[in-house]
Amino acid sequence: MTKTVKIGKSDVTSTPLGLGTNAVGGYNLFPNLNDDDGLNIVKTGIENGITLLDTAYVYGLGHSEELVGQAIKDFDRHQLVIATKGAHDFSTGEQVIRNDPKFITQQVENSLKRLGTDYIDIYYLHFPDHDTPKAEAVGALQRLREQGKIRAIGVSNFSLDQIKEANADGYVDVVEDEFSLLHQDHGADMLPYLKENNISFVPYFPLASGLLTGKYQRDTTFPDDDIRSQIADFQEPRYGQILTAVDAIRPIAEVHDATVAQTVLAWYIKNPLISVVIPGAKKPEQVAANAKALDVKLSDAEFKQIDAAFEAFKEMKSGKSLRDPD
Ligand code: NAP
Repeated sequence: MTKTVKIGKSDVTSTPLGLGTNAVGGYNLFPNLNDDDGLNIVKTGIENGITLLDTAYVYGLGHSEELVGQAIKDFDRHQLVIATKGAHDFSTGEQVIRNDPKFITQQVENSLKRLGTDYIDIYYLHFPDHDTPKAEAVGALQRLREQGKIRAIGVSNFSLDQIKEANADGYVDVVEDEFSLLHQDHGADMLPYLKENNISFVPYFPLASGLLTGKYQRDTTFPDDDIRSQIADFQEPRYGQILTAVDAIRPIAEVHDATVAQTVLAWYIKNPLISVVIPGAKKPEQVAANAKALDVKLSDAEFKQIDAAFEAFKEMKSGKSLRDPD
């Protein structure tokens, strides 16, 4: 039976595998996306047992939310967990991050309209701003919770100190931040605090944008205009170290008749520090395959074996994260 996880102190529950939808309508983030694929990605996920859909205003400046809203019309809304985020203001023509109550309250109303729903299960402050006291921003979300417009409160890309400030009144249910087998320095400082305070953790970039699916080889090369040719993970010697660690997963995957990606996702699902893992996808086939991770039950020994293969990455600085200042 698939386990169910509870989101913080709220009454929101989910399966431990969600779907990241930044490539569903996120035309400002990825080239060559089309709406039909986006709709199919979401529908395929739901048909394969995924309940939590992670979107945000900034993914396509509302378009990802619109597509998610369209896709869920064919399903029972109450079985689904819709998570979205806001903080980006482009009204001046430039990107400004805002957490002030007036702005955030309006963002929630806008998201409700785009999603075509009368409640949002999890609403995250997507990034912290410089000015708004964190507890004040979260207080605005608490009022929206009291009005039944949102069910759980999240923060994303907040430092540990900012999370503590945001949670001054105990209202924060969930934190979303970068964390993966490869990037264990990101997020690691906050995990004990979250556990102690009954705050769920949702890691993003769990497949390290595809590197942890096992699809890359030592001789894979990328053209200069491909973003991967600039990313630290794809530069030697780190790239070779990553592929060696990924190779250690292959025999475990074989035992379970699973792919490397499914086995990696099963590691997050078994990890007691992680609540819901939200891999993204560019194709419906990827979602269908990833959803099978719910059936891969790793033993304690296999969990530790994977952990050990990536031990070195706990100490390794993995470069800039989205929450580092520019
Ligand atoms: P990810 O989950 O690490 O990687 C997803 C990518 O891996 C896919 O787009 C696909 O890309 C590849 N992939 C997925 N399944 C695969 C499979 N079975 N076989 C082969 N390749 C596969 O990264 P992400 O999608 O960028 O991040 C996950 C989610 O986290 C996002 O969708 C978003 O919802 C959330 N997120 C949140 C924040 C935040 O600030 N809170 C920031 C970033 C992301 P290719 O086919 O192109 O290789």
